[in-house]
Amino acid sequence: MNDVNFDKLMIDQVGSLNHKPRLLLHACCAPCATAVIERLRPHFDITVYFYNPNIQPEDEYLRRASELRRLLTMEGYEGIGYIEGEYDEDRYSSLTEQMSEDREGGARCVVCHDMRLERTAQVARDGGYEYFATTLSISPHKNPTLINSIGEKLSQNYGVEWLYADFKKRGGYQRSVQLSNELGIYRQSYCGCLYTRDR
Ligand code: SF4
Repeated sequence: MNDVNFDKLMIDQVGSLNHKPRLLLHACCAPCATAVIERLRPHFDITVYFYNPNIQPEDEYLRRASELRRLLTMEGYEGIGYIEGEYDEDRYSSLTEQMSEDREGGARCVVCHDMRLERTAQVARDGGYEYFATTLSISPHKNPTLINSIGEKLSQNYGVEWLYADFKKRGGYQRSVQLSNELGIYRQSYCGCLYTRDR
């Protein structure tokens, strides 16, 4: 799966649509959501799902959630649905407490991605969404093969279509920085957990 062009897979999926399906889009933060929503909105009826118990401390979590809600009131983003999951930080901590020494991109991130995407797939299934996806691949620090392999597995387990993606392609990351600056969106300086913030 390492040499798969996930952006091309997404373009093919979008090209085969004959209607505008409901998509549950897991979003890690407002900056990443800016360019992803811009790219997907012509093709999908989007609801953003903020489920990120990995964000520490809680003040930072609340700030990122608030900034995402604020984005969805702005021109070009209005009308997008929003669901906020539980901040079950204890769950994240118990799953990763033995992995404090891992670097970003290691085994702890696999657990972290899996936890967030599995909940997204569950909510998508329960809510009758046709597709689920995540903004995560827009970050240059995130591994698209890992993200898409988790999504593919969960799609089979939960019976919801996974939207393959590598949103950093076609200038996606640069566009997210540009939009965030233009819109005055807060851009954090670390991924989410204290393991990486304090390293
Ligand atoms: S670095 Fe980011 S993706 Fe990895 S475990 Fe921490 S919060 Fe999760």
